[in-house]
Amino acid sequence: MRPARRRLPLTPLAEVARSARDRAHAPYSRFKVGAAVLADGAIHAGCNVENASYGLTTCAERNAVAAAVLAGAKAIDAVVVVSGTSPPTPPCGACLQVLAEFGTAALPVILVGRQGALVETTLGALLPQAFSRKFL
Ligand code: ZN
Repeated sequence: MRPARRRLPLTPLAEVARSARDRAHAPYSRFKVGAAVLADGAIHAGCNVENASYGLTTCAERNAVAAAVLAGAKAIDAVVVVSGTSPPTPPCGACLQVLAEFGTAALPVILVGRQGALVETTLGALLPQAFSRKFL
């Protein structure tokens, strides 16, 4: 008999990200990730979507941002990323850059990993020298 899966109490944002992770399409890496962003008081989810042509794979974080933009959001107020790793997995460089397009350096980034391992950080800590429109 398998032990019951431990569930820690999570914020609604993290619960949405956890549910998104369950829908990830990761048949090649088996590395499932879910993300949720808070924008204008609404939660938008994304999961990673792999492709047989590996370079076409999209990350959960960027898919969540795309969902927020589709809903009309112009700024993101928080992001939660749920993975199955310990320590929890941070967004990749590409996703950090996309988050920087819609969030400030103070953007809260909450990482949830295996058995509820939790890291709370900011976009500025993860990407201190973000490229932005001010350089254009
Ligand atoms: Zn990414």
